Amino acid sequence: MTTRHDTTTQLDALRVEIERRNPAQPEFHQAVHEVLETLAPVLAARPEFAEPGLVERLCEPERQVIFRVPWQDDRGRVHVNRGFRVEFNSALGPYKGGLRFHPSVNLGVIKFLGFEQIFKNALTGLGIGGGKGGSDFDPHGRSDAEVMRFCQSFMTELHRHIGEHTDVPAGDIGVGGREIGYLFGQYRRITNRWEAGVLTGKGRGWGGSAIRPEATGYGNVLFAEAMLRERGEDLEGQTAVVSGSGNVAIYTIEKLLALGANPLTCSDSSGYVIDDKGIDVDLLKQVKEVERGRISEYALRRGASARFVPDGRVWEIPADVALPSATQNELNETDAATLVRNGVKAVSEGANMPATPGAVHLLQQAGVAFGPGKAANAGGVAVSALEMAQNHARTAWSPARVEEELAGIMADIHATCHETAARYDAPGDYVTGANIAGFERVAEAMLAQGVI
Ligand code: NDP
Repeated sequence: MTTRHDTTTQLDALRVEIERRNPAQPEFHQAVHEVLETLAPVLAARPEFAEPGLVERLCEPERQVIFRVPWQDDRGRVHVNRGFRVEFNSALGPYKGGLRFHPSVNLGVIKFLGFEQIFKNALTGLGIGGGKGGSDFDPHGRSDAEVMRFCQSFMTELHRHIGEHTDVPAGDIGVGGREIGYLFGQYRRITNRWEAGVLTGKGRGWGGSAIRPEATGYGNVLFAEAMLRERGEDLEGQTAVVSGSGNVAIYTIEKLLALGANPLTCSDSSGYVIDDKGIDVDLLKQVKEVERGRISEYALRRGASARFVPDGRVWEIPADVALPSATQNELNETDAATLVRNGVKAVSEGANMPATPGAVHLLQQAGVAFGPGKAANAGGVAVSALEMAQNHARTAWSPARVEEELAGIMADIHATCHETAARYDAPGDYVTGANIAGFERVAEAMLAQGVI
């Protein structure tokens, strides 16, 4: 009989081997470690999953594409960026996952994001595999024309690898509606096909789904509320700290306000804003989405209730709920200790892997409800899958219908994680619940489809 000790030894050896074969990819190592350290109980209980090769195959991308992206700026100078698409696992459906444009992007970052995406997409129950892509291009300070030329060059190579039945990218950091528009236009031009389902996050008037921009933030707030309800509470009247001020953060704040909570902060890479009256989401949208400005401008325009704290960390502001919504490893062990000291009840990850492993352990040990990103922020990719369904049927659902579907999917994900954690002797541990539930779905499909 296989014991938990045997499987732990097997998984430890695998982790060491993965680190050896993928040097200098710390974020990928972190994401793999975080999943493998929770799988021992399921491999012991279901020995078919422990068979040699299954977990190894899961940790090795099916395909990794790296390409040159040359483009000219407005002064005619040539720049050369690097493009990536990691097609990680297609056992459950076409590869699905966003594109990130940020100077910190490298192969290890894209692999970490693609790996997380496999489990997240499995949790939605919607038949989508896992992938991720992007570039080390920095859109900050670039004109629309420069962003368009970059997107056109990026798609000129990427188009060979994607398609509605193959690989369906979407947005992520630095890639919003504007970039998806330029990317889609170039795909259509090169292929001479109206293939709406090749990209998600499109504009409403040309194949985009209602509620897609809102979905990640709204979904995370619904997940946080579901965790609080397990403890007999809800979000009404609770204070919240939110980091970031992009797509996820804005719609997190909007949904918190709609549910009667009080979001006190938002941030960007230069610092944070604290607003004693609660963030004014319309002003935030105006500054960030319309004017593409910095959040310091929000504080200047909001009046006496708000101030900008350069280089500060939102986690120093006492609140009932914390929703990290900017980037990976933005909430460390020291931040977690501060949150606990200030009485935080729930932390739910809008961003991917924003809490470091030390922070996660500390929060869980302190009894804080912790929602891991692969469950809590799955609303975005779920509505992307609904966008693909609408594209396929050549129809467009009402905002009310999509929002209802999103609420149902987030409730299902929460229930699945909660029940799975309890089934594997880890009640209330959403990290274990999400990892095992996502793993079971992918592993079953991989076993059924043979060694490929
Ligand atoms: P946006 O580009 O819209 O916004 C990103 C925000 O995070 C900006 O405020 C940005 O500030 C800040 N930020 C980014 N990198 C850093 C950094 N290194 N240090 C400090 N601040 C940083 O991205 P999204 O809102 O779409 O994505 C945010 C997170 O949510 C990411 O982790 C993403 O992977 C995750 N996510 C997004 C989904 C989506 O549907 N968009 C779906 C699921 C997860 P600045 O402008 O100063 O860089």
